[in-house]
Amino acid sequence: MKIAIYPGSFDPVTKGHLDILKNAAGIFDKVIIAVAHNGEKKGFLTVDERIKLIKDSIPDLKNVVVDSFEGLTIEYAQKHGADVLIRGLRAVSDFEYEMQLSQTNSALCDKVKTVFLTTKPKYNFISSSTIKEILANGGDISKFVPEPVYNYLTNSEKK
Ligand code: ADP
Repeated sequence: MKIAIYPGSFDPVTKGHLDILKNAAGIFDKVIIAVAHNGEKKGFLTVDERIKLIKDSIPDLKNVVVDSFEGLTIEYAQKHGADVLIRGLRAVSDFEYEMQLSQTNSALCDKVKTVFLTTKPKYNFISSSTIKEILANGGDISKFVPEPVYNYLTNSEKK
């Protein structure tokens, strides 16, 4: 049984994240999408809100589990018997950081390999930070986020 962890901030989850998740769920037996707690950095959404929105956005993926973690991703992966960490690549600008991260994780534990996936071109440019900026300026985010996220962000006090 091959287990993959897809770690990230998912603040909020986007159609880009979901495309990566669906691709990973088609390759691995089980995928744990894991929201990282970052004690120092106050997020836009709470970790509980992010988890709920991910769950609401993936009703048809049976081999996906949604979770959260604190501390090192690689330790979380080992604790869950994972073979693989999934990361997404958008542009060359992601490459340097992701390369450093994957090599650091390999140095900490070589058993867990990082696998990079890309999205369909139409989702490639989407990022959580641009979504927050569009929302803050009253723009339409409906093309970039799944419906539950759209409804939550446009109907709640987060607006
Ligand atoms: P982090 O704060 O760990 O970068 P994010 O939630 O921003 O977390 O992203 C999680 C992962 O998903 C990262 O590997 C990121 O590069 C990838 N990702 C995010 N959006 C996209 C996208 N539109 N296409 C491909 N990969 C993406």
